[in-house]
Amino acid sequence: MRIGIIGAGIGGLATALSLEAAGFRDITVHERTDEIRGLGVGLNLLPHAIRELTELGLRDRVEALGIAPETLVYMNRFGQHIWSEPRGLAAGYRWPQLSVHRGRLQLALRDAVVERLGDVIRLGHRLVAAESGDDGSETVHFATADGEIAETYDLVIGADGIHSAVRALRYPAEGAPPWSGLTLWRGVSEAPVLVDGRTMIMAGDGEQKFVAYPLGVPENGRQRLNFIAERRGIGHPDADWNRSVDPGPIAELFADWVFDGLDVPAIIANAEEILEYPMVDRDALPQWTYGRTTLVGDAAHAMYPNGSNGGSQAILDARTLAFHLGTAVQRATAQRTTTQGATAQRTTTQGATAQRTTTQGATAQGDAIDAALAGYEEARRPAMTALLAGTRATGPERVMLLAAERAPQGFTRIDDVIPRAEREEIANAYKRAAGFDPSILNERSSLSVGDRA
Ligand SMILES: Cc1cc2nc3c(=O)[nH]c(=O)nc-3n(C[C@H](O)[C@H](O)[C@H](O)COP(=O)(O)OP(=O)(O)OC[C@H]3O[C@@H](n4cnc5c(N)ncnc54)[C@H](O)[C@@H]3O)c2cc1C
Repeated sequence: MRIGIIGAGIGGLATALSLEAAGFRDITVHERTDEIRGLGVGLNLLPHAIRELTELGLRDRVEALGIAPETLVYMNRFGQHIWSEPRGLAAGYRWPQLSVHRGRLQLALRDAVVERLGDVIRLGHRLVAAESGDDGSETVHFATADGEIAETYDLVIGADGIHSAVRALRYPAEGAPPWSGLTLWRGVSEAPVLVDGRTMIMAGDGEQKFVAYPLGVPENGRQRLNFIAERRGIGHPDADWNRSVDPGPIAELFADWVFDGLDVPAIIANAEEILEYPMVDRDALPQWTYGRTTLVGDAAHAMYPNGSNGGSQAILDARTLAFHLGTAVQRATAQRTTTQGATAQRTTTQGATAQRTTTQGATAQGDAIDAALAGYEEARRPAMTALLAGTRATGPERVMLLAAERAPQGFTRIDDVIPRAEREEIANAYKRAAGFDPSILNERSSLSVGDRA
């Protein structure tokens, strides 16, 4: 089966690796940029994503890239604690949460793809058009330095991010991602150790917020922190991951955010580089699959970073798609073997049988792809539609909004503002929606083909 993946970001590379693990070999990844430069800043991989990377045999190399936060603390804009919870192994998961540099993760996944599949990544290939053939094949056209080229596949997977060209071919009127009015400034800064060196903090409310988590181990009382500063009403809506801005004015916005052990303006002012990005997402789609083309990752469901789930859900898509495809092909092969055995016994004309077997094989493969794409979409699309709605309602950060609404000037006792049971339910509801409730994740079957533990 010839499989074409569009986009060599986190989702596209994870899809190539998942398909390889499910038994597929004829895979090509097409990437728009001329070089995979490993761009970005921090990204969190939640335990459900680490489970999938572990089952792909990538746990050690991903763990080597980052640090496992053990506690998440939510605070108001005065630094008062609203909620804190254990994360990863400390929360009873069988897999940790990992904070990594997005670019280093992309490079590690790229290396794994090259090791396992060979030279299958075509750089400088920007998808510009596509059409379906009568035989069910998909032809995709790329703009390259040498002009336009076309490739034909049995299955095409659009993993081309929030500005997906694959998606735009099906939804041409969709336009730019809608802007929430908030702007995010992301950076990495060397700072005094945050709490115990394994804690992630979120402070603020719906108007202004600061998030920080460690990306490196403490050394001499300091460590590399990834941060996201967020503010409503400034910036602009063009979603460009590479827009670099001056830290000075951003630090100024947070001038009085100096709490116990956390000097927000100093962390911002000290950043190596600050990338400005609007808080944008995509509306949920009614359909991801058309013919034998489907979508994964941000192309299917770009979401706000509340809850740190974008990269993790792209990995879940990759593994779920590969699971359905591998299982459907195995089933079709088993059926064909049985049918061929019976036909061979009945027939006397070998030529006619061979021809019929080839046609049957192509039909069986097409049917298997269709069944797999339907299974994938059923498993993932409704769940991602619900998660998109949840992140628009600020996801687990809702406790911060409630605290600001009910106690805008701060509080003495958080229990008087938001009872513990309410705070707990907000955190748990999000975990259930995103598929990482500890008991469900720990117990659910594996997505490795032929390994339904
Ligand atoms: C440069 C960059 C920096 C980022 N930095 C961060 C960060 O710091 N923190 C964070 O949480 N998230 C970051 N993200 C987003 C994050 O990677 C995604 O939200 C998440 O991992 C889902 O991954 P994805 O593979 O669906 O999309 P992406 O990781 O965005 O990958 C999409 C890939 O498709 C390629 N592509 C796009 N259009 C075409 C086309 N027409 N033809 C061929 N290829 C195409 C892109 O070049 C890119 O490599 C960044 C994304 C990018 C592109």
